[in-house]
Amino acid sequence: MAEVSDEFTMKLHEYQAKQVFADAGIPTPDSALASDVDGVLEAAADIGYPVAIKAQVQVGGRGKAGGIELVESDEEAREAAERIIGMDLKGIRVERVLVEEAVDFTNELYVGVTMDRGEGKPVAMVSTKGGVNIEEVAEEDPDAIAREHIDPSFGMQPYQARKVVFDAGVDRAVATDVAGVLSTLYDLWTSKDGSDAEINPLMVTADDEVVAADAVMNIDEDALFRQPEIAEMGEEAAGGDELEQKADEYGFDYVRLDGSVGIIGNGAGLVMTTLDLVDYYGGSPANFLDVGGGAKAERITNALDMVFSDDNVDSVVFNIFGGITRGDEVAKGINEALEAFDEIPKPVVVRLAGTNWEEGMEILNEDLVTVEQTLEDAVQRSVEYAEEGEA
Ligand code: GDP
Ligand code: MN
Repeated sequence: MAEVSDEFTMKLHEYQAKQVFADAGIPTPDSALASDVDGVLEAAADIGYPVAIKAQVQVGGRGKAGGIELVESDEEAREAAERIIGMDLKGIRVERVLVEEAVDFTNELYVGVTMDRGEGKPVAMVSTKGGVNIEEVAEEDPDAIAREHIDPSFGMQPYQARKVVFDAGVDRAVATDVAGVLSTLYDLWTSKDGSDAEINPLMVTADDEVVAADAVMNIDEDALFRQPEIAEMGEEAAGGDELEQKADEYGFDYVRLDGSVGIIGNGAGLVMTTLDLVDYYGGSPANFLDVGGGAKAERITNALDMVFSDDNVDSVVFNIFGGITRGDEVAKGINEALEAFDEIPKPVVVRLAGTNWEEGMEILNEDLVTVEQTLEDAVQRSVEYAEEGEA
């Protein structure tokens, strides 16, 4: 459920979040990171079979997408490692896996802390319907997730932790431990400037132990200046995603999402609006990409390089508002950038507004791009192109 939080968060990998949780005293399985088959076999030998082999990529639903496998022997581990390392998981190449002591569980719980923007307060959540279907549970049976709002000036009181665990219907035998995990999670959420902290599943074993089998920790990016340890983990995490690395090199504000409409705009608000509109018209955004002020051909070329090298992208929409950056300059930049291609890989739609937009529209080469007058038309057109691209 972490996906609901805003775009300006830094997501730790599972193995990093687990390290943070374990350091704070939350029980986690024995594990080791590996990046090749030999590494997996070595780790498995240390830990002892059965082990879970888990792709370390920052996408939800790895289990369902084939990124997790339980194995019981060297032979199975080798096969799983060969399949998972290097695989494409929702557009991201798996470079590393976590090899982890398999947990024999009787139940999977969900525990999480996030910001409830509606209430303007953090909220602690617990469910006995944890595991890979929690998104569906949240949608179809929201009452199966117990919630407790927290007053940030007082923090989570012990009775609140017990109450939400009790409300969720957690088995008495583990209720105290689950409440303890939840309190620790809340403290981490606060002290690390988290936007989401989540354990799904928190596994319950036959002998009534609880173990964090998965871990999500997303950090408010604006707070990274005072979270040096987390920021360092983030640099390592970004290394896992080629596109995010590229964005750093180009100096773009970029967030990869998992849709098919590539979005390029100047100004964060403008890009966000475009994202919302793509969603409104039934498409799904592939990214947030703010090229910022100035729109020299080189910047446009780099922005196009970003979206074109994302395999999930089926169409691209430019939403440019001319201010100091003039529409005619942007148009020239777009033409120049696209003329460099023998064949433009994916259809591009452009909407220009603001300073010199009319000159810009005239300059744009309609052999290379589709020009639309309004943002609504441009977004709708890009969603149509994306649908055709998928078909
Ligand atoms: P996600 O799909 O990215 O959320 O990955 P998770 O780490 O939550 O794993 C998904 C599912 O795989 C869990 O809900 C479990 O059902 C299963 N799984 C993961 N680790 C283990 C393990 O150690 N033992 C067992 N039996 N199942 C596991
Ligand atoms: Mn999970």
